Amino acid sequence: MTGSLRKPLVAGNWKMNGTSASLDEARKIAEGAQDFADVVDVMVCPPATLIARLDLRCAGTDLLLGGQDCHAEPAGAHTGDVSADMLVDAGASAVILGHSERRIDHKESSQSVADKVAAAHRVGLTAIVCVGETEIERKSGQANNVVGEQVRLSLPSTTTGQNVVIAYEPVWAIGTGMTPTTTDISEMHGVIRAMLADRFGEAAAAAMRILYGGSVKPANAAQLLRIDNVDGALVGGASLKAQDFLAILGIYGTRSVETVSVGA
Ligand code: PEP
Repeated sequence: MTGSLRKPLVAGNWKMNGTSASLDEARKIAEGAQDFADVVDVMVCPPATLIARLDLRCAGTDLLLGGQDCHAEPAGAHTGDVSADMLVDAGASAVILGHSERRIDHKESSQSVADKVAAAHRVGLTAIVCVGETEIERKSGQANNVVGEQVRLSLPSTTTGQNVVIAYEPVWAIGTGMTPTTTDISEMHGVIRAMLADRFGEAAAAAMRILYGGSVKPANAAQLLRIDNVDGALVGGASLKAQDFLAILGIYGTRSVETVSVGA
């Protein structure tokens, strides 16, 4: 199955960036993305403080909103945390979970990610589950095993082809300007899909979107996002400016160009 049979998703991860001054930029993204609404789902994941205001500011457009994390519990004594239900209440339909910055900064294990994914599913959120190897792991030939294990352990039994999106994000490619080769991305996406098929069945694996993330920019988007088995992107830095984010979406304006199969 080629990526062209799954509707691609391009999601912007604003990380800890954005205040009310960013609302106009979000509106520009939402309006510009309307041109591509038939062929690609477009999402912005702002800080939790902005979700409700983006929801209002982008009303009447197809822009999807996501959170960047949620707690595994529905409510309670967890100062500073946000529950999945709160994200829904603010207007989100998805949540990024297991981003490498959280796995590193907050020492999140794949098991805790799986608990959060289950919490997201309980309230109907799509979980965008991030996996990816470090530079040392890639150089020592462990990338496939590390990522395979993250996929296996980060997904609960509630996972379906529709309620999870995988984002393959090599840690060394995030915010560095470096990207893997197209062959390496294609191979890893194949490894991930095979692991999904093994655990959840062929139909779920065929339906699930696998995004690439890590230094996606307007200049490399066409090359990276047309790889067979790549169903869109999780974009960090380049999602903060409407001009850059819309330029990345622009590659779907020429979607009739065949996806590129690279020999693995
Ligand atoms: C990310 O943080 O998910 C990401 C992919 O960042 P960047 O695009 O800036 O590398």
